[in-house]
Amino acid sequence: MIVQMTSGATTQQIDHVVERATAMGFDTLLNVGTDKTVVAILGSRTGEVSTDVFAVLAGVDTVTRIMKPYKLASREFHKELSLVPLGGLDVGGERLVMIAGPCAVESETQMLRAAEAVKAAGANALRGGAYKPRTSPFAFQGLAEDGLDILARARAETGLPVVTEVVDPHHVEQIVRYADVLQVGARNMQNYTLLREVGRSGHTVILKRGLSSTINEWLTAADYILAEGNDRVILCERGIRTFETSTRFTLDVSSIAVVKRYSHLPVIVDPSHAAGHFRYVPTLARAAVAAGADGLIVEVHPNPEEALSDGIQSLTFENFDQLMAELRPIARAVGRELSSASEQDKVGVV
Ligand code: PEP
Ligand code: MN
Repeated sequence: MIVQMTSGATTQQIDHVVERATAMGFDTLLNVGTDKTVVAILGSRTGEVSTDVFAVLAGVDTVTRIMKPYKLASREFHKELSLVPLGGLDVGGERLVMIAGPCAVESETQMLRAAEAVKAAGANALRGGAYKPRTSPFAFQGLAEDGLDILARARAETGLPVVTEVVDPHHVEQIVRYADVLQVGARNMQNYTLLREVGRSGHTVILKRGLSSTINEWLTAADYILAEGNDRVILCERGIRTFETSTRFTLDVSSIAVVKRYSHLPVIVDPSHAAGHFRYVPTLARAAVAAGADGLIVEVHPNPEEALSDGIQSLTFENFDQLMAELRPIARAVGRELSSASEQDKVGVV
């Protein structure tokens, strides 16, 4: 339930709303605006309470039931679009964030080569998984802490912030020591213990959409992170399961429009996992930028033939360069821009 206070509401009146809600066993969150204050009343039983209970209190302007299952991720709670820091960028602003790199960290040479190449093409951040959620337990599972160490070295060499996946709540403490951004993968979108833990970390989180999750479920999962007081959440559309098998998943381009309508959180797109084949990646990437995505996360490998995971969908350096060139005019046409190679050249070595 969202209680919107009148512009002139006093602190005592706001406190009284909070006290009433607390006495009824609900949690509250305040959004203090320059003009109006909004009190979110949280709890699974809010549906059982009449809006009159709050509407009758002094200083209350309107009380709205939130029909959507998510609250904190909603634009009703937070009207302005959120900007989420990632390295030196604000994701959700005019500048698109381009995150690129291999599916998995395989070696120092592989990551350093990839980091330098994607940076030279204008990418803003480096991706690479050290803990891989593989469909088969016999497939390459990642280099674990050695992989994180390699990522940190690639960052030191290039100044690019690093994005890496966290698959286990017990790993969060370790990963935040090495990485700038925590990625919650599609398979873990509803791993609530993990969501709470990345929420508590305060780190920027990329929350991928589950393979078969609705947009409502995805935004409700984001609420778990936001409810821990971490507002640095970036959503990532990465394709969903449909009856179509020509591509690995089906990129749900419409989710960009829906998320922009109902949520204040930025949304980026992963064309690589959606396509499942490098040939289709540029098409999906261009569509995503044209549709208003706030950035992309793309798999790029120095030698896709030898990749230990997802080689088939990885772009070569040359293909990534070309993709960046193709995206520039599209970004401009929708009022956005990409970092240029020369700007990225100036990114500080840390
Ligand atoms: C990945 O980014 O390498 C990955 C495993 O993605 P997803 O969780 O979207 O399948
Ligand atoms: Mn992958």
